[in-house]
Amino acid sequence: MTGVRTTCAYCGVGCGVIATPQPDGSVDIKGDPNHPANYGRLCAKGTNLGETLSTEDRLLHPMINGVQSDWDSATSLMAEKFQTAIREHGPDSVAFYVSGQLLTEDYYVANKLMKGFIGSANIDTNSRLCMASSVVGHKRAFGTDTVPCTYEDLENADLIVLVGSNLAWCHPVLHQRILAAKETRGTQIINIDPRRTATSDLADMHLGIKSGGDVALFNGLLNAIVDAGAIDQDYIDQHVNGFDAAISTARETSLDQLMNLTGLSGDELTAFYSAWIENKRVVTIYSQGVNQARDGSDKVNAIINCHLATGRIGRIGMGPFSITGQPNAMGGREVGGLSNMLAAHLDIENENHREIVADFWNAPTLPTQAGLKAVDLFDGCASGQIKALWIICTNPAVSMPRANDVAAAIKNVDFVAVSDIIAKTDTTVLADVLLPATGWGEKDGTVTNSERRISRQRGFLPAPADTKHDWQIICDVAAKMGWGNAFAFKTPSDIFSEWAAMTKLSRDAGKDLDLTSYAMINDVEYDAMEPIQWPIKSDQSDTRFFANGGFYTSDARANMLAVAPQSNASVTSIEYPFTLNTGRVRDHWHTMTRSAKSPTLSTHMGEPYAEIHPDDARALNIKPASLVMTESPHGSVILRALITDRVQRGQIFAPLHWTSLWASRARIDTLVPSLCDPHSGQPELKRAAVKISPYAAH
Ligand code: SF4
Repeated sequence: MTGVRTTCAYCGVGCGVIATPQPDGSVDIKGDPNHPANYGRLCAKGTNLGETLSTEDRLLHPMINGVQSDWDSATSLMAEKFQTAIREHGPDSVAFYVSGQLLTEDYYVANKLMKGFIGSANIDTNSRLCMASSVVGHKRAFGTDTVPCTYEDLENADLIVLVGSNLAWCHPVLHQRILAAKETRGTQIINIDPRRTATSDLADMHLGIKSGGDVALFNGLLNAIVDAGAIDQDYIDQHVNGFDAAISTARETSLDQLMNLTGLSGDELTAFYSAWIENKRVVTIYSQGVNQARDGSDKVNAIINCHLATGRIGRIGMGPFSITGQPNAMGGREVGGLSNMLAAHLDIENENHREIVADFWNAPTLPTQAGLKAVDLFDGCASGQIKALWIICTNPAVSMPRANDVAAAIKNVDFVAVSDIIAKTDTTVLADVLLPATGWGEKDGTVTNSERRISRQRGFLPAPADTKHDWQIICDVAAKMGWGNAFAFKTPSDIFSEWAAMTKLSRDAGKDLDLTSYAMINDVEYDAMEPIQWPIKSDQSDTRFFANGGFYTSDARANMLAVAPQSNASVTSIEYPFTLNTGRVRDHWHTMTRSAKSPTLSTHMGEPYAEIHPDDARALNIKPASLVMTESPHGSVILRALITDRVQRGQIFAPLHWTSLWASRARIDTLVPSLCDPHSGQPELKRAAVKISPYAAH
């Protein structure tokens, strides 16, 4: 059997996989030794992808109101319902909620349909929960959403700082690359996380920061850089605005306040600051602990400020590096999959950008302002603003904050369609129409990983029963709505080549995306396409951004931002005295619709749990491995107590994966409020006020 070179379905590392179907129907999975993201490595999730491919629980036929139907009826009904809502209530009465699991081609046509033809920007994505704060931080500092680093920088760094990232569990192959660098060149690793994780165990230093203390910590670092005479004055003079304001704001926090805000001792702060200052080649990796916060964008800019002040950006082995959670969060950003962006890194508020995009698509109308971001979108469902909703490839009734309210909001919408591969999820049960999509292993397209590398995902299994590719479903509905000409794509390569041609608009507007060399790609070339990193250069040995000190702002200079720490970072109250931190476990993924199918992966963690500090457990008479009731003003969840000093006193950690299909009170995001960063709209999934108590089943 011939192996098919494809890309892992899970995280933003974007590992290359060779999938080989076997005569007995199983599929052999190996790491692709030639893929530059992983060079043959795979983690447990990637290795066990073959166990997730059965069609047992699949959605295999279109369904209307719970009854099996056919594609013509389902897409006709969808077109009619969306057109009626638009005619009676305007284009902003409809919405799409999509996913960083979609391929770029799917994402592109969904965005084109909503923004270019329906004329609303009400398309948002579960990537809003993942990296929207990084997008804001990049745009504020660099003028575009440009990630400056590559994975090779990790192998050329002397110090790697991991902030709010359990890389060992959430991006395991990247962590393996860092550990290999540590072995061969003695790279130092510092991990900053309120919780002691597997990543902390393998670091040289773990700073158990107080939840919410990151802006203060990095402002303190900026102060220390200045005090040590470690700024790069020439670089600042030539390439950076805002230094004086940023340092002046950083100076407002005294050492006592800094220790109070971060929960770190003077010695810990000195050790971290000295290491950062002394090692010129430093990469600061950050992930959801930074992004999923009410001040996530400011945290991002506080980190970037330190790199700009020292000129440690755009050079080998150094820079701020946001690692994306999902396999195609980056691809979604490229094609404008967030409600406040246009495709090709163009800006929805910019009239000129709107005009050139409308022109390129020959689109009748383009929205003049940003659409609803994820939390607002579901609030719009609850309020009755949204009359027709299409959820594609995601499970918001589990993953959104205030998940109970979100489920009720979806129920409140007049017409709901859900495209999925799974028949029964917490979200599909709320739909009027279900559209069966193809899954990993059956579909073709591209994804872009955290280092801007575009890789092909290639199908190696036939599409089962009546399933269709997401891009086909979207194009079918668009055609039924009267826009068949603009959506007459026959293959994913048709879409990719249109998308690549569109990036000329970005290049002409002085932005960073330029894939135009792929604009004429045909099916054969697309099929053979090797992983390619943008910026696309003939010599892929150096695909670095900002090497010449030029940025994408109007004066080509980067911006340091004056960002102040929150004066009161605490979220707790007398009634809800614990801070809940949510996150992933090593071997499960999102709402487990794929990973739970693997018996091997399920041996790692069998049930949802709460990490509780021993002092707190003792005070509340919570016994090891007993059940605890965890409550917030928004819901209640029953979890197994895992008593451990890996969490701080007053903190609870619980994984996000389990759903109500596993147990009626297992969805952790039912507890989380929908408080968002005001700039990015990203919800604070890392800090919710809760109370806990022993639970006795009756
Ligand atoms: Fe897949 Fe991420 Fe594991 Fe790589 S690190 S195999 S992309 S889950």
